[in-house]
Amino acid sequence: MESRNTFSQSDARKTALELENKSAEEILLWSSKTFGGKLVLSTSFQATGMVILDMLSKISPTTRVITLDTGRLPKATYELIDDVQKRYGIEIEVQYPDNNELKNIVTKHGINMFYRSYSLRLLCCEKRKVEPLNRALTHFDAWITGLTRHQGGIRTDIPKVSIDKSHGNMLKINPIADWTTEMIWDYIEKNKIPYNKLYDEGYTSIGCDPCTRPIKKHEDDRSGRWWWEKGMPKECGIHFNTKTD
Ligand code: SF4
Repeated sequence: MESRNTFSQSDARKTALELENKSAEEILLWSSKTFGGKLVLSTSFQATGMVILDMLSKISPTTRVITLDTGRLPKATYELIDDVQKRYGIEIEVQYPDNNELKNIVTKHGINMFYRSYSLRLLCCEKRKVEPLNRALTHFDAWITGLTRHQGGIRTDIPKVSIDKSHGNMLKINPIADWTTEMIWDYIEKNKIPYNKLYDEGYTSIGCDPCTRPIKKHEDDRSGRWWWEKGMPKECGIHFNTKTD
């Protein structure tokens, strides 16, 4: 691993307090000035990520953007990736699973292993999402995410800045942590940003095609993810360590 510009735990806490009442744009500007080419946005092109990507295109257009192609994404997500590249003229650095590792688990457990047990679902997420992201993040000192507190569960208390112990103590920056769903869609509408068309079909959180469905009235935003699992965290392991958090 390359050496990193890391923050101490106390510096990260102090910075989180300082940035808590700053706007998302101010936080992105601070991030860009602090980390330069060692800053990256990781996005799955959900509404939150699109807001940040649009802001970054105005504040720091050279900040690198990565995404994970799990091989199981919905058609609408691939179409959006294409649209975004054309509209913003940026390179989206697509990260892929290791082909051999994928072949091994699919041969052993089947192409739709995730429906059979929670541990097989986590194994699929590990190989298709967590490990490719881990490999990509080793090249950076700080990463930006679209996590928000309103998504609930273990996201309810996320700070705007924290040390990411799962990724070599790099800084994790959540500039719109305090945004509501209304604020996100207001921004998208006002700025005429492209968005994933599955939102128009009742989806409120969009991941892989076989593991995501639209929600019913009164269900929470992430209940359409891995909907067949009861009482398990609606997480894949990218943002929270499913073994320890
Ligand atoms: S969301 Fe589903 S298909 Fe995608 S990596 Fe996780 S288990 Fe596999």
